[in-house]
Amino acid sequence: MIAETILRDVFGYSAFRGAQAEIVAHVSGGGDALVLMPTGGGKSLCYQVPAIARHRAGRGVAVVVSPLIALMHDQVGALEVAGVHAAFLNSTLSLAETQQIEREMMSGRLVLLYVAPERLTTPRMLAQLDALNARGLLSLFAIDEAHCVSQWGHDFRVDYLALNVLHERYPQVPRIALTATADALTRSDVIERLALGEARIFVSSFDRPNIRFAVVEKSEARVQLLRFIREEHEGDAGIVYCQSRRKVEETAGWLAEHGITALPYHAGLEADMRRVNQDRFLREESIVMVATIAFGMGIDKPDVRFVAHLDLPKNIEAYYQETGRAGRDGLPADAWMAYGLADVVNQRRMIDESPAAEEFKRGQRGKLDALLALAEAHDCRRVRLLAYFGEASAACAEHQNACDNCLHPPATWDATEAARMALSGVYRFHQQRGQRFGAVHLIDVLRGKRSEKVEQYGHHALSTFGIGGELGEAQWRAVLRQLIALGYLRTEGEYNTLELTSTAREVLRGEVRLLLREPSAAAGRKRSKKVATPRGKGKAPPVPLSAAGLARFAALKAWRAEIAREHNLPAYIVFNDATLAEMAQAAPDSLAALARINGVGAKKLEAYGRQILRLLDNR
Ligand code: ADP
Ligand code: ZN
Repeated sequence: MIAETILRDVFGYSAFRGAQAEIVAHVSGGGDALVLMPTGGGKSLCYQVPAIARHRAGRGVAVVVSPLIALMHDQVGALEVAGVHAAFLNSTLSLAETQQIEREMMSGRLVLLYVAPERLTTPRMLAQLDALNARGLLSLFAIDEAHCVSQWGHDFRVDYLALNVLHERYPQVPRIALTATADALTRSDVIERLALGEARIFVSSFDRPNIRFAVVEKSEARVQLLRFIREEHEGDAGIVYCQSRRKVEETAGWLAEHGITALPYHAGLEADMRRVNQDRFLREESIVMVATIAFGMGIDKPDVRFVAHLDLPKNIEAYYQETGRAGRDGLPADAWMAYGLADVVNQRRMIDESPAAEEFKRGQRGKLDALLALAEAHDCRRVRLLAYFGEASAACAEHQNACDNCLHPPATWDATEAARMALSGVYRFHQQRGQRFGAVHLIDVLRGKRSEKVEQYGHHALSTFGIGGELGEAQWRAVLRQLIALGYLRTEGEYNTLELTSTAREVLRGEVRLLLREPSAAAGRKRSKKVATPRGKGKAPPVPLSAAGLARFAALKAWRAEIAREHNLPAYIVFNDATLAEMAQAAPDSLAALARINGVGAKKLEAYGRQILRLLDNR
């Protein structure tokens, strides 16, 4: 089979993964496809292999639409290193460079051309495509990050809307649209707006078995983050998401003060600085990028070992997309989130205060609720995540990397009585001249603390004063957080004062039972100790190696760094960690043996094979 030959010879892989084989066959044969596959699932090969196959059959150039011009350079670099003639057209090129690439394209010699959507739909580009098409040299359109066409999604790009022109103008050229966004609304939007009604739809499992999902109760988020990085990811590359630009800068600065190589990234930074920081993140090995959601789409660095959230994302789609940037290489990675009462309150308020239409807000509230349920869950988080995307799955006991709840099922306690106390507390305030108070004051009253405010309002005289003295502050915060997350309480106004909702009555009457996770910072600490995989100091290989193997691995990495510098490409494009580790373990002593290592294609074998053998021979 030609596709398998290409996979082996060009990319050095022994077999297609999951639906790849079917997709490649369908598209190579001229069919349209919509591919829904999680991040790291291997979407690129789904259009790269058909592009190569069709090019070999004399069908010319495949055009890849990709939204991020900053990353085209590396994508094209990776193909060229593998011996595939590829190029990109974007605003960073000089006129002479552009003309050179246009000549390559018009000759049909180019196999893949990457362009930004706004470029593709210019009259000049369309005229060139017309000319190519007239000569039968337009082999394929690949539309990457296809969810950008949907206004429902979080990455809407108006330029994507114009892409339906491709279908109208070149109906016989196959199109493949790809995305890692799985929800039904986005999916139907993509189909409609890109006119993919006839396309075959390939839905892969969205499970990411190598990612461990964990949510910790927020106490001092930065300190918790630092401990997490030090204990489990010293020297690893990772992404830390924060909600605001200010928090991004503060957190990056604070981590740096504590010896972590952390850089900030948000839309408010100078374009130059953003580029430099992104470049360092891609090229160096152990940068922690502290960022707003402005960072990440299209970042296909495969060895990101963790994604941490210091603030709650908007919804599960965003959470899964962001955490999905961890562990694209299939090696163990962490999705870690610190979550607390303030997150619930803030997210709720952001929706309430947004100028959007009420119907839209209702949708957003529903999505937030689903995320809150995930954060509060005491059962398998993976099962819940996948269920959200309409996929049934087994709990992670069967996975390579289980979620926190499966690894250490959390103790729960029956908080029904406590919840009733809290709601009565709010009710009593209200009874007294319709007053409202925030969580801190309520907790003081329940715990019987005679604060200044308690004295001022005479709240020590309330029947609820001191009824909850046996619970600690943290426990009360957890109770309130749950009540808000579950919609029995809501917060109002600038001071986040608490108010009962219409469903609070169910709890007050004892009609619902509330089971909460046992809160304790100590439990969190125990967890991370036990779970910590001995990855050493981040320079450790992805598979266990003997002492000699470790020496070979280190030598290979040093060699790779030199080659990467020479080509001005990220190291993983030369060979990724998994490939180097396999070389170090197998220590091949012939070109034939080296060719059998996953990730060693014909071109790389020819270019580097002898160097590698020499290097291994000297160890
Ligand atoms: P996506 O775009 O879906 O996030 P990529 O196309 O970047 O994923 O692929 C993720 C990683 O998996 C890459 O390092 C890629 O080389 C690797 N990969 C993809 N398909 C295969 C395969 N069939 N065999 C081995 N590795 C693969
Ligand atoms: Zn689980």
